[in-house]
Amino acid sequence: MDMIACIEKKKQGFPLSKEEIFAIIKSYTEGDLPEYQMSAFLMAVWFRGMNHDEIYHLTMAMMHSGETMDLSSLGLTIDKHSTGGIGDKLTLIVAPLWAASGLTVAKMSGRGLGFTGGTIDKMESVTGCDVALTPETFLALAKENRIVVTGQSKNLVPADKKIYALRDVTATVDSIPLIASSIMSKKLATSADVLILDVKFGRGSFMETKKDAKILAQTMIEIGEKYGRKVAALLSPMEFPLGFAVGNALEVKEAYDILGGNGSADLMKHSLFLTILGLYASGLCANVDDALNVAKRHIADGSGQKKLCEMFRCQGGQFTGNDLCSALDLPHNGVELIAEQDGYITDLNALTVGTVAMNLGAGRKTLNDTIDHSAGILLKKNVGDYVCRGEVLASLYGKHIADDCQEQLEGAFTFGTKDEIPADGSGTVLFDSKELELKGIIHKLLTDS
Ligand code: URA
Repeated sequence: MDMIACIEKKKQGFPLSKEEIFAIIKSYTEGDLPEYQMSAFLMAVWFRGMNHDEIYHLTMAMMHSGETMDLSSLGLTIDKHSTGGIGDKLTLIVAPLWAASGLTVAKMSGRGLGFTGGTIDKMESVTGCDVALTPETFLALAKENRIVVTGQSKNLVPADKKIYALRDVTATVDSIPLIASSIMSKKLATSADVLILDVKFGRGSFMETKKDAKILAQTMIEIGEKYGRKVAALLSPMEFPLGFAVGNALEVKEAYDILGGNGSADLMKHSLFLTILGLYASGLCANVDDALNVAKRHIADGSGQKKLCEMFRCQGGQFTGNDLCSALDLPHNGVELIAEQDGYITDLNALTVGTVAMNLGAGRKTLNDTIDHSAGILLKKNVGDYVCRGEVLASLYGKHIADDCQEQLEGAFTFGTKDEIPADGSGTVLFDSKELELKGIIHKLLTDS
């Protein structure tokens, strides 16, 4: 492979062949291709983009750079991917609901970096929970319980690990072909039958606009469908934190509470949206009306909560029965943030909330930082709430709460009049040709319920 010719071709905007793309990825993963040439190539992709075939070949080349996992012995499997969000604990809600409904969730998840949280970090706030399962244990637990979540194995998509690290330092992260191939190579390497994508846009997410989020979602759907998988996506704004809790142990508790039918209405709605989409896309429910009934039943009868506990217990969580909170390193004695004025909350900046939570110790600034699982923020008020001066807006928890944390968090809240409360921006569903029909039905069901 002539790398200079490949860079030149991409620089001029011409498509690369499957052979060229596979050769580039192989050579870079094996350490033969120098970083400076890969950097130039990534920047050429950033400027010129890639056509659908190129993106598919790039995904396949990355996926085959390491081991893959065969889930075909597990029955109907489902997986989800979220492009991130502040307070996003949806895996811990949606996966148990899918498992309680009869689907199998055998999922590999990541850790968080910066203001974004990772499911694996949240899971580690349960005392004893093992998130570094061997492939054998992973498959055995999936068979036994229909739900297992572990960290990504070292040998899964090594090309992505190297390329992502290089993108991070060459300003080439925000490229749709590179993001889509990075995400889908990892998802298809553990290839569940159905994949539900939760693609966020706005402040605190990779895609700033809904238009870009839609292009990213469509690109990923196309890759997955070409590979023979069912893929559906929910597009949703990431302007405000999801739910009330931001921080690892606090978020696990919030997920547990939502599965028990208690908590933030917005988080409940988003959870139901994704659950319904999975139950419908998998064919387990014939229509979204049935899917909503199934999801609600598993919340009402406690079977979703039971599945979450079963998952943690089988992965080493040290608690008995369904008393998950007894194994959580939950914080005490927070510092309260008090409202200094009356009014409606018309905005709550997710990015600021995430940054303050990270500074409290809930997230990592660099990959080697240690997390304080009990640190974080518990919001007491959210967008749309009326607040009186003197009421508690939020509690901050951490071993060292710096003086400016409270001030910074206060800056995340905007007060105004009722008219200034933003309209409900809940999601758009993309699901092959039934896109609009589904969107309308799900919205109606959730609004009526
Ligand atoms: N998440 C990934 O896994 N890859 C990207 O490129 C961006 C987000």
